[in-house]
Amino acid sequence: MSDDASTDTTRLVVVSGPGGVGKGTVVHSLLERHPHLWVSVSATTRAPRPGETDGVHYHFLDNAAFDGLIAADGFLEWASFAGNRYGTPWSSIRDALHQGRTVILEIEIQGALQVRRRFPDALLIFLAPPSGEILEKRLRGRGTEDEDRIGERLALGEWEIEQARKFDHVIVNDTVDGAVDAIGRILGL
Ligand code: 5GP
Repeated sequence: MSDDASTDTTRLVVVSGPGGVGKGTVVHSLLERHPHLWVSVSATTRAPRPGETDGVHYHFLDNAAFDGLIAADGFLEWASFAGNRYGTPWSSIRDALHQGRTVILEIEIQGALQVRRRFPDALLIFLAPPSGEILEKRLRGRGTEDEDRIGERLALGEWEIEQARKFDHVIVNDTVDGAVDAIGRILGL
């Protein structure tokens, strides 16, 4: 990754939290309310779910292409999560930051912690579930994962919740509107 020093990362905003907490829904709604925000499209090796479009929801890559981007230092961060790899392409984000945009990353926790190490002045927001039971219900309710995958994701949950203290802000995702209000206040929107 090049050009770190010349990039102002105080407008780099990470929205993270446990899988199933509703990050995607909250960020989608945040963008609807504040269309000037710039939301990064991640790369992933996971297969598209029904209704997902390449280049819109993710850049869907095979393992070789993902390895190529790692080798080319093309990721701001990347992480393995529940059997797949996910990464934030750096060059488009750097361009958006240089244009003065506020950049939102919706990523899992290991990636958020990498952003913190690389860019200490980035803003880290942790979305927390109202309770463990609600998190499990949301994961199952999505109906896109088999039981093994749901088990893997729930096992991660405890470690994930402990990481909240490393974030600048913790927001309990009781309702989507409430979480979007809270993020808006933090960003001064
Ligand atoms: P899903 O497979 O449900 O779309 O995403 C699984 C997890 O990967 C979610 O917690 C999502 O926020 C996270 N994720 C999506 N893109 C990235 C990324 O670029 N980097 C990292 N570290 N996590 C990501």
